[in-house]
Amino acid sequence: MTLSITIDHGRCTLCGFCVDACPVAIFQFDEGETAVLIGELEQCLACRNCEDHCRPRCLVVDFPEWPYRSSTSRPVVEDGATADLATESRGS
Ligand code: SF4
Ligand code: SF4
Repeated sequence: MTLSITIDHGRCTLCGFCVDACPVAIFQFDEGETAVLIGELEQCLACRNCEDHCRPRCLVVDFPEWPYRSSTSRPVVEDGATADLATESRGS
C-alpha cells in the first residue's frame, strides 16, 4: 500500500480531532502539545477519518490506489460511514 499523510503545520489548529478520529492511533501530540506527530503508517486503514475531521483541511491522506472510498472493512468511526461505503460498493 502506497500511502502518505501530510499535515500543514502552519494551518493546524491543534484541535486534536485527527488524533481522536483515527481508529488505530496513528497520530499523537508532541510533548508540549505544539504539533501533531504522524506515526508509522503500516497500521493505517486508509479510512480517511483523519482527513474528514480536519476542519482547516490541512491534513491530507494521499492514497493513489484509491479510486474512490472503496474500503468496506474499516471500523465504524462516524455514524453511517461504513454503511454508506457498503452501499456504494454494492452498486459498483
Ligand atoms: S486514514 Fe484512517 S487509519 Fe489512516 S491515519 Fe487516517 S484515520 Fe488513521
Ligand atoms: S484535525 Fe487538522 S487542525 Fe486538527 S490537529 Fe489534526 S491536523 Fe491539526
